Amino acid sequence: MQKTSANLAIVSNNTFEASKVVNLHHYDISSALQTTLEFNELIAIFSHKIDSMIPHSAYVYTNAEFGLEVKSGVFTKHSCSYALKVEQQQLGELTLMRNCRFTEAEIKLLETLLCCLIYPLKNATLYQQALKLAYTDPLTQMNNRASFNDTLKREINLAVRQAKALSIIFVDIDNFKAINDSYGHECGDVALSSVAKRIKENLRSSDIVFRVGGEEFVVLLSDTYLDGAKFLAERIRKSIELHTLSYDMAVIKLTASMGVSVLHSDDTVDTFVKRADGAMYKAKHNGRNQVMAA
Ligand code: GH3
Ligand code: MG
Ligand code: MG
Repeated sequence: MQKTSANLAIVSNNTFEASKVVNLHHYDISSALQTTLEFNELIAIFSHKIDSMIPHSAYVYTNAEFGLEVKSGVFTKHSCSYALKVEQQQLGELTLMRNCRFTEAEIKLLETLLCCLIYPLKNATLYQQALKLAYTDPLTQMNNRASFNDTLKREINLAVRQAKALSIIFVDIDNFKAINDSYGHECGDVALSSVAKRIKENLRSSDIVFRVGGEEFVVLLSDTYLDGAKFLAERIRKSIELHTLSYDMAVIKLTASMGVSVLHSDDTVDTFVKRADGAMYKAKHNGRNQVMAA
């Protein structure tokens, strides 16, 4: 059996004291890092906890997989950067900055302290990957209905709190069943991806789009009134109508009907959604391939 006390016996008093201090810090940092699975919170906790040992004026954390860039503090001349990685898993890149150079001893200490950050970052990565998967429609790579339910509540609360407008567009592809019936399900899937692309390419980065059903999409437009939403819906409608899809030897034209609505002060999630959905059905009854507002 391995004797665990043997390691301590060969360490001199000085080193032992130093490592004891570091170990206490390790314990403190590790405990704090166990409280969250959010990247930005992990990095902020780590920066705060190491600041007394390795003073720094700013940090930047980037994570390409999640399109993340977290920055805080005053950017200065000297920096040290680490590409963080464990078991072939990329965990992003962390940079610390300050006015004077980082000493060798500080760099060495930082490297031992970074060990505390690696596994919490790995856990956060696994959690965020699972979350992304649960919220993503595999065919179009858009947010799915589960994501819509959560996001809509959040966006309504935000709009009310900030006294800002919030608009919604319901999009339903016209006679889509006929595409499946005439050309097969696989062609239907290609057509769905094509419409998803038309919608995405007409949006601003602040707009959020969801695939909420088979051939149904919803766009949430923050800080947008009814006129702006109608204008955008019309642009999407035209873009779908003008696009020609070729599948095998077939040339397929698609159209979509849309319902648009803006959040009223007395709206609930339900009344807001129902008004846009109702407007979309009006567009269907009016002859399809058009935008109706309510
Ligand atoms: P309307 O103009 O009234 O909206 O007619 P529609 O045919 O689009 O509407 P309906 O609700 O009758 O049919 C929707 C069809 O969408 C039914 C199904 O064949 C098709 N669909 C739903 N989900 C998928 C999918 O994931 N892939 C494919 N290929 N087809 C799907
Ligand atoms: Mg439908
Ligand atoms: Mg339809």
